[in-house]
Amino acid sequence: MSQLRAGRDYPRSLGEFQAWSRTDADCLDYLEWLRWPTGFVCPACLGRAGWRLGDGRFKCVACGVRCSVTAATIFDRTRTPLTLWFTACWLFATGKDGIAALSLKRTLDVGSDQTVWAMLHRLRALLVCPGRERLVGAVVVDETCIARSRSWGWPWQRQGRQGLDGHRGGDQGAQWLRAMPDRAAG
Ligand SMILES: [Zn+2]
Repeated sequence: MSQLRAGRDYPRSLGEFQAWSRTDADCLDYLEWLRWPTGFVCPACLGRAGWRLGDGRFKCVACGVRCSVTAATIFDRTRTPLTLWFTACWLFATGKDGIAALSLKRTLDVGSDQTVWAMLHRLRALLVCPGRERLVGAVVVDETCIARSRSWGWPWQRQGRQGLDGHRGGDQGAQWLRAMPDRAAG
């Protein structure tokens, strides 16, 4: 997929998100468009002709494989409605400090702790990328806050939140942090 555009490829606001995912059918439509933007592709033989079955799955005309759009995704074989899944995804992606199981349980109004834990487990697993390469060179991280006393903290801590510019260097792998220039100051 080429460059994703907010408002066309993904919702740019909570209102847009809610309008796009009112029902499970809306969510399935969206997943189909994400997975097969140019139409069904059989995961087994890459055939492009498929029938939609009564249960929402597709059947490949060439090899007969039955496939759901959610197969091999975090939504695979879930009994939780996709609307709840989508809400969890939205909260997970937009919450700057992550999301706690209890908070998600209350927001989604689901009765089972296990359901919420399973959802969070699948969502968090997405963030783990096996075999990823280490960051090299200068790495700029998002703004953060390191708890220190204001009276003796480093200059940027006394000034409040600010970006940090991190470097990894030397044989010892030391981490170096310095405050980035204040963006407000240009
Ligand atoms: Zn096939």
